[in-house]
Amino acid sequence: MKSYLFALDLPELTEILTSWGEPGYRAAQIWQGLYQNLWDSPEAFTTLSKGLRGRLAEAFEFSHLQPVADRTSSDGETRKILFHLPDGQPIETVRMRYQKRRTLCISTQSGCAMGCLFCATGQMGFRRDLSSGEIVEQVIYFARRLKDQGERVTNIVIMGMGEPLHNYAAAMQAIRRLNHPEGMNLGARRFTLSTVGLPPRIRQLAREDMQINLAISLHAADDELREKIIPINRKYPIAEIMGAVREYARASKRRVTFEWALINQINDTPEQAAKLADLLGGMLAHVNLIPLNPTRGYARKASTRERAERFQEILQKRGVPCTIRLRRGIDIQAGCGQLASEQNGM
Ligand code: SAH
Ligand code: SF4
Repeated sequence: MKSYLFALDLPELTEILTSWGEPGYRAAQIWQGLYQNLWDSPEAFTTLSKGLRGRLAEAFEFSHLQPVADRTSSDGETRKILFHLPDGQPIETVRMRYQKRRTLCISTQSGCAMGCLFCATGQMGFRRDLSSGEIVEQVIYFARRLKDQGERVTNIVIMGMGEPLHNYAAAMQAIRRLNHPEGMNLGARRFTLSTVGLPPRIRQLAREDMQINLAISLHAADDELREKIIPINRKYPIAEIMGAVREYARASKRRVTFEWALINQINDTPEQAAKLADLLGGMLAHVNLIPLNPTRGYARKASTRERAERFQEILQKRGVPCTIRLRRGIDIQAGCGQLASEQNGM
């Protein structure tokens, strides 16, 4: 059976190459070809002998991702690709250009088991976990496209399909591989991991000693409302999440982001804003207000501009930094899970 190249760490690749009687440094050469030169097939590895290239072709799979839909927004700033994995399951990856940033939004699962009502991925249900290689290859794929235009990936947000802390080991392996100085060499601070809030895993992340940015998808400031839109809140109530987040903030010394999809007449009330300000008191935090992206499985609408601004004003008066985000790529279904569910006819 072939092994998938992007799923291997450098020591694992070194072990395989040494078992073939190759010197140890060959693995580093291949690694450099993959992550720095972004070569996409064994033939491209002109730094290696022809014999060794043939051996690579026999032993390794170079790709798991098959692009099946590719859309660029009308302003050209957002591009989204729907990929199929070898077993046909869908995932999505988005590239956003914003000033000097080239940010990729990557998936960690096909579908999601958390079932948040307003989320297109949640509405699909859970298909399967991605391997670390399938997470890494999304970055490689877009890094190649950017390289063709003389650009490079500057930031990674783990906010695509799936709940990254529900596929913890693979997500962490992927981040470490992309962060590796001999790999992509992307600094830890360039990563943002977004989670629905799984306290045991947030605490584990705090112990990893990596300064990645954490974003918490809060969306409601009391358990009664949060349970209604985020079912996993019954297992992990807000107080537990906040305890774990404070631990992460202390360990990483990073400002934590709280995400809030503004749903008209549901979570955009002055009462919710005041409760949110109470929750975040004394914490190095930032709130991202994102007008709800409508999905087929959830009838509610985005908050009106007036209600969004009122919500923001209450937070700002209480000293909580807070931004209303523009919806990017709305014309290409760039919201989480939306392209895949459209293709499924959901
Ligand atoms: N599972 C993780 C990461 C993927 S979702 C998480 O929940 O954080 C990425 C972000 O998109 C989350 O903040 C999620 O709540 C938000 N989101 C999902 N569906 C949305 C929608 N229809 N409109 C606006 N934001 C949405
Ligand atoms: Fe899963 Fe995040 Fe969507 Fe909730 S919002 S269903 S956790 S992907």
